[in-house]
Amino acid sequence: MQYQIIPVTEFQQNCSIIWCKSTKDAAIIDPGGEAELLKKAVEKLALKVTKILLTHGHLDHVGATKELANFYQVKIYGPQQEDKFLLDNLPHQCVQFGFPFSEAFEPDVWLNDGETVQVGDVIFDVIYSPGHTPGHIVFVNKIDKIAFVGDVLFKNSIGRTDFPRGNHRDLITSIKTKLFPLGDDIRFVPGHGPMSTFGYERMNNPYLI
Ligand SMILES: [Zn+2]
Repeated sequence: MQYQIIPVTEFQQNCSIIWCKSTKDAAIIDPGGEAELLKKAVEKLALKVTKILLTHGHLDHVGATKELANFYQVKIYGPQQEDKFLLDNLPHQCVQFGFPFSEAFEPDVWLNDGETVQVGDVIFDVIYSPGHTPGHIVFVNKIDKIAFVGDVLFKNSIGRTDFPRGNHRDLITSIKTKLFPLGDDIRFVPGHGPMSTFGYERMNNPYLI
């Protein structure tokens, strides 16, 4: 699997384009905005976008989803259904954060813990990780030992839980019982900021020790 991280929106949200080296099939994870920038990157890499994957329903992670799904004629996978209230509420989130208008939408496929998503020959396990939002999921590729964790965990920090239906206890439980057991050597791309590993965070993250 290969990937390129492209920060989008004024929140510098880490949108990732991931692809299968052999088939060139690609997925866009958390396209929060700047659809044109993402389209250009896909074109430059000569990839075939086959899916859009969403970790959770916050605007800065999903704002360009509908536009890109229509443009590439692909289906939207994730998040888990508990985030429906956020996607239903997208026009309001846009006003709240001063973003360009995004219409409300539903993914084609809600995802649940233990399911898998395939992109070319690349397989992601879906890990249900509520807390930052009630329907947050994480995508893990165990072969390449890399996870796309949205706003669950950051380098030296954790996700906020002061948004609607956030839950601090659930978040800590998700990190400690769902993510860390995947292994210290798993690298992760957070929704914002630099990459890290589960091992580094398990040992050093001030919110978790
Ligand atoms: Zn978020």
